[in-house]
Amino acid sequence: MSTFIVILGPPGAGKGTQARKLSEKLQMAHISSGDLFREHLRSETELGKLAEGYISRGELVPDDVTNAMVRDQLTRNDTDNGAILDGFPRTPAQAEALEKMLAEFNGHVNVAVNIKVPDDELIERLTGRLTCQEQGHIFHKKYNPPKVPGKCDFDGSELYQRDDDKEETVKKRIRVYHEQTRSLIQYYQERGLLFEVDGKQTIEGVMADLLEYLSSGE
Ligand code: AMP
Repeated sequence: MSTFIVILGPPGAGKGTQARKLSEKLQMAHISSGDLFREHLRSETELGKLAEGYISRGELVPDDVTNAMVRDQLTRNDTDNGAILDGFPRTPAQAEALEKMLAEFNGHVNVAVNIKVPDDELIERLTGRLTCQEQGHIFHKKYNPPKVPGKCDFDGSELYQRDDDKEETVKKRIRVYHEQTRSLIQYYQERGLLFEVDGKQTIEGVMADLLEYLSSGE
């Protein structure tokens, strides 16, 4: 049966970085709701236009729109080996919708990983973050700089600062996380699926903890 891993944590915790590495190591599909929205924005689709205002204000896109987008993506990807979901779900209603979607694939959420990082560190991480234009690889001006300034190490595309990584929007996104997403930790804890990892460690340290935990459950 396929394994589905949900990555939780505040914006800037390193969800995207860890999800990407994990998907490569474990040969599992990687589905990032934020990356999907940004693709829709770039291609100026109807969905992109609908989501744009919410994203630029640092608010959550409504559940029905987000759920439909993720469901569509699950059907397009090869999920025989499972998938890593990054940035989704973000509300308990989305978590319930996800359970229904995964039932269609004969699966369910096996693990919810919560990457813990204190708020003051998140602001510094997000305001210094650089994102690659092509595939969303993530760098940081100070803590994880690219080898060639302004260029992605992996695909050579331009690095840019996301509009919603400006300080005011970052603060709003962290507020939204505390108000709307934190309750998900309890949701998965009650179901015995939660694994918490210290996100203040290096990227490699977090990955090592994740791999150790995941292999212990095999
Ligand atoms: P992220 O790249 O995960 O930080 O997401 C960027 C933005 O996309 C968020 O601030 C939201 O506006 C939107 N977004 C991403 N995932 C979701 C989700 N699961 N539910 C609602 N909005 C989302």
